[in-house]
Amino acid sequence: MTLDLDARQRAMLAEMGVRLFEPLRTHDESVDDVPAPARAAAAAPAGASSPASAQGLVPGGASCVEPASTPHATRAPAQRPAPVPPLPPVHATPLPLGERPAGIDAMDWDALADTVAACQACGLCRTRRQTVFGTGDRQADWLIVGEAPGEQEDLQGEPFVGAAGKLLDNMLRAIGKSRESQVYIANVLKCRPPGNRNPEPAEVAQCEPYLRRQVALLQPKIILAMGRFAVQSLLGTTEPIGKLRGQVHDYQGLPLIVTYHPAYLLRNLPDKAKAWEDLCLAAATLERAEA
Ligand code: URA
Repeated sequence: MTLDLDARQRAMLAEMGVRLFEPLRTHDESVDDVPAPARAAAAAPAGASSPASAQGLVPGGASCVEPASTPHATRAPAQRPAPVPPLPPVHATPLPLGERPAGIDAMDWDALADTVAACQACGLCRTRRQTVFGTGDRQADWLIVGEAPGEQEDLQGEPFVGAAGKLLDNMLRAIGKSRESQVYIANVLKCRPPGNRNPEPAEVAQCEPYLRRQVALLQPKIILAMGRFAVQSLLGTTEPIGKLRGQVHDYQGLPLIVTYHPAYLLRNLPDKAKAWEDLCLAAATLERAEA
């Protein structure tokens, strides 16, 4: 049997630290011994259409993969463009500290983006360089939700452009998507917490209506919540990620899948295989919804 992954997907899985469990090979394409469930699990996220193959994507069916012990051994680090110089803070229409404008629930994309850019609802407006609204395809089926901008995001005004973002980009490529098309990426917080400290509950509460409106405008078919803060704030729970993974949750009537934050995965390489399972579950859930 053959494993239906192209070279790009194999490279992306390798970058994620997910090693395909295959017999030793003497030539490039000799993958005929990979078991059927493994093949389904690997192929379906890139666009398989049958429910049977989608079933193979759930974590139980992902026995074909295991974390690589040296995930970066064969790949040279990709070059990123030089960082853009810091921008001055954007305060289009400043509001008094602590206040959000009324009517967020009725705003269109542009009004919402302008409102976020001018937001002074919490103290993070004093230390941010600029707000980070979100990026991607406003018609996307997939919404990825992270925690908060870090230093690079604060500099560039775009989510996930640092090291964690590079891994996220590779994860997206592994399922045949990119931040430019079919995916929208946003954070729970639109401003960087100083020193990348954890978001405070009051900051999350002040920012929450913005993300809620982004979800309502986007109407994604699947939400992937990455990391504890995204998961716990979207689901209103304090349960750990390990307990919430592997299920389809609900956010405003939309299916939500829980997974680890890419920054966590960079420090915990074995859990990259679990993140791959989560991506597969998200892809299968979307596929089932469209069937
Ligand atoms: N981590 C996040 O959660 N979001 C970003 O935008 C960058 C890093």
